[in-house]
Amino acid sequence: MQGQIPYTVLHWHPEKASEHGGDRMNLRNCKSCGKIFNYVPGLPPICPACKQELENKFKEVKLYIREHKGVSITEVAEACNVDPHQIKQWLRDDRLEVTDDSPLLLNCEGCGARIRSGRFCDKCKASMTNSFNSIVNSHKAAQTPQTNGKKSESKMRFLDN
Ligand SMILES: [Zn+2]
Ligand SMILES: [Zn+2]
Repeated sequence: MQGQIPYTVLHWHPEKASEHGGDRMNLRNCKSCGKIFNYVPGLPPICPACKQELENKFKEVKLYIREHKGVSITEVAEACNVDPHQIKQWLRDDRLEVTDDSPLLLNCEGCGARIRSGRFCDKCKASMTNSFNSIVNSHKAAQTPQTNGKKSESKMRFLDN
């Protein structure tokens, strides 16, 4: 007689996981300078030194934008010697403060409207939530009681006996 043990029960050993995974080094090359460092999963693959440098750059960029209202991403990138993509990333992360008429505004990935942070405008965010809800509802409606499943179940029980 073979009982079915759920996969998670068979393979879940919390003590073992912390014992073996705790001090294991996760070495990677820094994306910025190429130096090998101990990578922390979930964080950008950048070494502590470059991270600190980037943080200094962020402060510089933030100050520059505050002092030069109306500058474009390209202008800030050149003035502060920062990758324009990095500036966009900071904008997406909502770390840089920009005014409604600033050329630094991002474009909504849905409709192209000017937005201050993130990836989508409020309108697109709202319509995405709506379409998500309607998908969930239509799935619920499609689920009809399955009589076939019950029949085979009772057949199997019969065979077990
Ligand atoms: Zn580095
Ligand atoms: Zn939009």
